[in-house]
Amino acid sequence: MSNHSAIDFIKTNIADNVGIVSNPSGLEKGTHLSNGIVLTEDIPMGHKLALEDLQQGDRVIRYGQIIGFTKTTITKGSWLNELNIEMPQPPELKDITYKKSETISQPPLEGYTFQGYKNADGSVGTKNVLAITESVQCVAGIANYVTQKIKKELLPLYPNVDDVVSLGHSYGCGVAIDVAAALVPIRTIKHIAQNPNFGDETMIIGLGCEKLRPERLLRDGDRNVNDTILYLQDEAFSGFEEIIDGIMKMAEDHLKRLNQKRRVTCPASDLVVGMQCGGSDAFSGLTANPAAGFASDLIVRAGGTVMFSEVTEVRDAIHLLVPRAENEQVAEALKNEMAWYDDYLFKGLADRSANTTPGNKKGGLSNIVEKALGSVAKSGTSTIVDVVSPGEKIKKKGLNFVATPSSDFVCGTLQLAAGMNVHVFMTGRGTPYGLPMVPVIKVSSNSKLSNRWFDLIDFDAGPIAFGTKTIEEMGWALFHLILDVASGTKKIATDKIGLYNDLVLFNPGPLT
Ligand code: CA
Repeated sequence: MSNHSAIDFIKTNIADNVGIVSNPSGLEKGTHLSNGIVLTEDIPMGHKLALEDLQQGDRVIRYGQIIGFTKTTITKGSWLNELNIEMPQPPELKDITYKKSETISQPPLEGYTFQGYKNADGSVGTKNVLAITESVQCVAGIANYVTQKIKKELLPLYPNVDDVVSLGHSYGCGVAIDVAAALVPIRTIKHIAQNPNFGDETMIIGLGCEKLRPERLLRDGDRNVNDTILYLQDEAFSGFEEIIDGIMKMAEDHLKRLNQKRRVTCPASDLVVGMQCGGSDAFSGLTANPAAGFASDLIVRAGGTVMFSEVTEVRDAIHLLVPRAENEQVAEALKNEMAWYDDYLFKGLADRSANTTPGNKKGGLSNIVEKALGSVAKSGTSTIVDVVSPGEKIKKKGLNFVATPSSDFVCGTLQLAAGMNVHVFMTGRGTPYGLPMVPVIKVSSNSKLSNRWFDLIDFDAGPIAFGTKTIEEMGWALFHLILDVASGTKKIATDKIGLYNDLVLFNPGPLT
C-alpha cells in the first residue's frame, strides 16, 4: 500500500491481479494510472480493476486467494464485477484436515481496565439495565406498555439504573416445542435474560397457557420464582390495572437491588466483545475488518473474550480458519457448524451465494467468496479456542466462533445470548443498527460514509485506505474506544439518539 494520499487504487495482497479503486469519486475511462495502466471504462469507488490481461477462465485473485474465474476475455484496466466473474465452489469440508498453523505468540497485555458492573456469577456488565423478558409473544403489548410506564414513573427514582428494556420476541406458542430445532430459540431467550448487563435481575412475564413454560427460562435452581415470574392469567388479578400494578410492584424490588450496583475498576479480561458486520463494501475487508481484527487480538492478549460469527460469511474462508483452531475438537466443531448450515440452506433450496445483497455488489463485492475473505479479517490472528452453537453461552475466554446466521439483527440477538457486553459493528454501505441492551460501536469502512453519516458512525477506519493511518494505529484506537464505551464514559451514536432494533430469534424449527 502506498503512503501517498492521492492513490487511485489499492492492491490487498502482493499476489492479487485486481486492484480496488480507492478514489472517492471513482475513476473515469481513459485515466492513466501510476503503473501505466489506462482505464478502458469508468469504475466506481470500491470496485475491482484488472491489473493484467486475463483470458476466459483465468483466476481472479484478491487477498491472495481465488475469488472467481473470468467469464470472458478481460483487458487490463477493465472493470471486474459479478457479471464477468464466475463464483468458485466452496471448500469441501471433508477435504479439510486439521493441522495447527504456526502462530507467532504475542506477549500478554497488562494493565488495561474499564469501569464495569460486577455480577455474582463473575460476569461484568457495561450497562446496568432492568430487563423484562416474556415467555410468549401474546404478552408483548402488556410488556411494552409496562416498560414505558416503569421508565417514566420508577426509573427516575433509581439513578444508578441506566435503562429498562423489554426483551420482546416472536416465540413461545404455536410452535413444535419438542423438536430438536426448538432448542435454539428457547435457549436463546433464556440466555439473553442472563446477559451480564441485566445483573441477574431479569423479570419474566408469562401468559399462563403457553407452550414455552416461563420456568424454562430461569437459571438452574438459583431464583425465587415468585419474585421473577408473573402470569397475566393469575386469578389474583382482576383487570388490566391490577395486572400493571402487579408488574410495577415486582419491578420496584428489582430496581432497588440494581440501584445498589456501582461501576468498579475491572480488568480488560472482563470484556466480551461481539464482532459483526453489515452492509459491507469492498473496503470492509481492507480497513474496518482488519482494524477490528487488530483490536480483537489486543483484547485476547489482555485476557478478554471476542466472538465472531456469521456462518455464511466464513464458509468460503473455512480452510483458513480450521488451522487456527486450538485443537482437533475445535476444528471438528467448526466444520460441523458449517455442515449444519450447508444442510439448513440446502433444505431451503438455497446456498451461501444467497448472502450477498444488491448493496454489497454496488459497493464492489462481487460474490460471497470475496465478502467472506474480507469478513473473517475481523477475527484477527488469534487461536480459536471454542465454537459455540446458536443460542448457547460462551464458556471460554479468548477468541470464540459463535455460529449464527449473518443477518445483522439475528446475529446480534444470538451474540447477546452468548454473553457479549460490547458490540462492534463494521459497515461500508451504512446502517443505523443499534441495541438498547449493549453499546453498539459502529465502525465505517470508508470516510465518505462517516462524513455523510457524521452523527451515526462512531469510528472511521477509512483513513487506512489512503495510507494516512495504519491498521495497527486504528486497531489501538478502536481498542481504547471499546474500553471507554464499556466504562460508560463515551456514549455511542445510537444511544445518544435512541435508535434501536428489535431482537430477532433464529428459529430453524416449524410453526404449527
Ligand atoms: Ca451481519
